[in-house]
Amino acid sequence: MNVISIPFNKPYMTGRELWYIAQAHTNGHLSGNGIFTKKCQSWLEVQTKTQKALLTHSCTAALEMAAILANIQPGDEVIMPSYTFVSTANAFVLRGGIPVFVDIRPDTLNIDETKIEAAITAKTKAIIPVHYAGVACEMDSIMDIAQRYDILVIEDAAQGIMSTYKGRPLGSIGHMGTYSFHETKNIISGEGGALLINDVRFVERAEIIWEKGTNRSQFFRGQVDKYTWIDIGSSYLPGEVIAAFLFAQIEEADQITQKRREIWSVFHQALAPLEKSGKLRRPVVPPECEKNAHMYYILLPNLTIRNHVIEQLKASDIHTVFHYVPLHDSPFGKNHGRMADDLPVTRMASNCLLRLPLWLGVEVHQQKIINELTACLI
Ligand SMILES: *Cc1c(COP(=O)(O)O)cnc(C)c1O
Repeated sequence: MNVISIPFNKPYMTGRELWYIAQAHTNGHLSGNGIFTKKCQSWLEVQTKTQKALLTHSCTAALEMAAILANIQPGDEVIMPSYTFVSTANAFVLRGGIPVFVDIRPDTLNIDETKIEAAITAKTKAIIPVHYAGVACEMDSIMDIAQRYDILVIEDAAQGIMSTYKGRPLGSIGHMGTYSFHETKNIISGEGGALLINDVRFVERAEIIWEKGTNRSQFFRGQVDKYTWIDIGSSYLPGEVIAAFLFAQIEEADQITQKRREIWSVFHQALAPLEKSGKLRRPVVPPECEKNAHMYYILLPNLTIRNHVIEQLKASDIHTVFHYVPLHDSPFGKNHGRMADDLPVTRMASNCLLRLPLWLGVEVHQQKIINELTACLI
């Protein structure tokens, strides 16, 4: 009988989270923008070489801030993949923006940079590259298009912390970038995120939007003598307990990433024969992209086989998941977005992709996962 259940995800704790939370408690500063927030933000600024990093409640919140900073107005168009999480679109739709969905590349499943230009109109304000699975989009081409048309690039790097493109950290290449620290990501704080600002023009206003539309940050630095309402904004900053938790995680970011890469490689090598015999396709990582091993996915030949594999693995207590319902095909997206073309690769990925469990500790189960998966397909 099978008693060990292998979950799809299991949050990893370094062991120092509670210690730092206790320190935050002792410090007596529990609202946002305290010592731990500053430690995390400094680490992010050094790690990504960006002008400014601001912690947020989530990547969703960071994307909402980016949409305000990009000055998205009703009717403005924002180019993005349909194969992504809903927040990529929602943040812009909240400001009246219209998502324009472009297909993804068959290799990396990232936005197909060769299809972006045809989707640009006079109303296009921004391109949102999503670095799927922590593997970089073709950023040189995307930045070149953005420059030629004078539009902004906001990287949805929710899955991209510790990954690079031509040596540059994801989230630091566009005008702005966003990270997620949701518990399903590599570096976590339960819920959490960050906005990275590369373009210095946006730094001052970002702090104001972050602090409910006030100049509170400038006031505390002694740069202004009154603290008052000067712009739109919201409460986007997390409290110190979250920042303390996150600090324990980012201290171990290198080790966590290394471990994930090793687990990824074990899957990748073991599944090579199945790819060779045409049973599945493995992820593609272009040579200019260094991955953070956020996920290990496989592409199966069709929806029927994908669903069969999920059921078979579940019977062996191995939990795997698929995603995304493409945004252009969702009840809300159908009415509020526009398709740049037929999006055939998006449809294929939505039907054929399967994510395997990848978390620190799954190593002891990896051979079983590989054996059971192989048994389903042979
Ligand atoms: C996880 C994720 C988000 C949302 O992150 P939250 O921190 O949960 O708001 C946005 N975009 C992508 C591509 C994601 O994977």
